[in-house]
Amino acid sequence: MNSSLLRRIRLLSLAIFLSVAGQAATGPTITLTLDATQAPTKVLRTHMTIPVKPGPLTLYYPKWIPGEHEPSGPVANVAGLKFSAGGQTIPWRRDSIDMFAFHVDIPKGADALEVDFEYLEPVGGPFSGGASATAKLLVVSWNQNLLYPGGALAEQIRVKATLKLPSGWKFGTALPVAHQSGDEIDFEPAELNRLVDSPVICGEYYRVVDVTPPGEPIHHEIDMAADSEDALEMSPELKQDFTNLVAETGKLFGSRHYRDYHFLLTLSNHVAHFGLEHHESDDSRVGEDAFSSPRGRRSVGGLLSHEFVHSWNGKFRRPKDLSAPYYDAPEITDMLWVYEGLTDYLGNMLAARSGLWTPQEYRDDLASVAASLGPGRPGRTWRPLQDTTDAIPLMSSFGGRSWGNWRRGADYYEEGNLIWLEVNTTIHQLTHGQKSLDDFCRVFHGGPNNGPELKPYTFDELVSTLNQIAPYDWAKFFHDRLTSTSPDAPVGGIEAGGWKVEFTDKPPRGEGQGGGGGGGGFGGGNTLYSIGLAISQSGDVSDSIHDGPAYRAGITPGMTVVAVNGRKYTAELLRQAIDDAAKGTAPIELLVLNDDYYRTCSVDYHGGEKYPHLVRDESKPDLLDDIIKPLATH
Ligand SMILES: [Zn+2]
Repeated sequence: MNSSLLRRIRLLSLAIFLSVAGQAATGPTITLTLDATQAPTKVLRTHMTIPVKPGPLTLYYPKWIPGEHEPSGPVANVAGLKFSAGGQTIPWRRDSIDMFAFHVDIPKGADALEVDFEYLEPVGGPFSGGASATAKLLVVSWNQNLLYPGGALAEQIRVKATLKLPSGWKFGTALPVAHQSGDEIDFEPAELNRLVDSPVICGEYYRVVDVTPPGEPIHHEIDMAADSEDALEMSPELKQDFTNLVAETGKLFGSRHYRDYHFLLTLSNHVAHFGLEHHESDDSRVGEDAFSSPRGRRSVGGLLSHEFVHSWNGKFRRPKDLSAPYYDAPEITDMLWVYEGLTDYLGNMLAARSGLWTPQEYRDDLASVAASLGPGRPGRTWRPLQDTTDAIPLMSSFGGRSWGNWRRGADYYEEGNLIWLEVNTTIHQLTHGQKSLDDFCRVFHGGPNNGPELKPYTFDELVSTLNQIAPYDWAKFFHDRLTSTSPDAPVGGIEAGGWKVEFTDKPPRGEGQGGGGGGGGFGGGNTLYSIGLAISQSGDVSDSIHDGPAYRAGITPGMTVVAVNGRKYTAELLRQAIDDAAKGTAPIELLVLNDDYYRTCSVDYHGGEKYPHLVRDESKPDLLDDIIKPLATH
């Protein structure tokens, strides 16, 4: 996005902001009843009563969902929409440009508009707009089940919500409860932004785990809903590690900005898998067996650490550009390298400090990230990091990942991780070990706990806070990294931390011998850094490194490798063929299915298997290990 277009959008946003800020006032309370009693059949029913005056009125379905950074409000799942007043049906028309807006004309004498619609829970799909209901559980994202009147800021609209659950289901949320009668819950009236920021998790199989550390005055709990009772079985060790995580955030930030905190964790194979941050909770969704495998535990530990950090970095402190006070104006995402990049870095660091990750797992992750952004991402040579963050609202990589190595995706997460590690080691160097990024966090994310408060910042404020910790040309530091078109990953922090990225023929511990998964980035796979293919156990090619050995042989995403040197494909056979090719000059012959046609592709590669590792550089102190040492007593 060029800068003149960005300026125009900013001016437009400012104009919208000023026009609504002037006229809005705290109006009467909207009531919202969400009937989720039929959640297992994937139908939720909304009834709203909105105080109105006669005349034209525009109602909005939330479009730009905070934390998703794109116009992902699932308006296509709204059905059976009906408006009425005083028993009379009111006709409506959708706006011809903004399809999230509905125009109605309130008749004379009417003072309340009744709104009814159904939200049809989808099968599949990404993020909170994806699958959120199963036969045994539901995650309620309030933004999917309401309309709001235009002309006021979200914080100026008060909503009193009632939720009706299937019989016997339990629930958890950060939203304060006023009253509960059986399966019907009345919540305290809340500002629209607070309601949208407070999802509800509920289900038949349900458990609450208290993870408040001893002596911590603010309550923290994990609320879990799953598709089976067994899936809720969290080991005492894991509970201790999550309690450590809460204690470590207290040490790192020195402050909290919430009344209490709820990790809302869904364990199901039938919902979308992701994490979405909120100020006093997070909506994190993983597979049903997450607690029962080492890989599952590592991923749930990393996910909850990341989303928890967002309470400080993303919710309390948020780039000014991402602080639009309503849901119908575009988000400007140019600073996601702080919002997500710093969160990615701190989340992983805290996972290691709290014991959710071992030091080896932390280093393996860094190696995987560095490799995926170095040889795994030739797209860095044409597309600087800044563009990945500017363009994400229309180019979210989460839908499809083919060609990710060349077109790039949401790289500001992982590349941000490496850059913020380098900020940390640079502060260490500049202050001769007296200061670290922890000192920055205590200043930038600190201050009194006024509940879920928003304190926006600009790039200049970020740079000026860093200068308080360690004077340096931080603006140039970031500019160089955000505009770089070097093919090499920014590994300055890893190297200053006393480690080097090296490739060997041994897979990292915890990685299987199979072809799929692992390796970081876009699908990884055993052969990504050798012949340049991300390939599944069944031979499906999800990515092919641009101008890599397989690409030059004509193999690209969407094709399927069906045979290796004349024999039916298995991941193990391909690995063996790569080993054998390193001992001679004959190419690897791959029979490939491209749509309906077979073709033999000769991959001329003789470098053997390659896997990334961090290897200790004994000429330097092990700063990386120091950084992930716990600060709290566990
Ligand atoms: Zn995040």
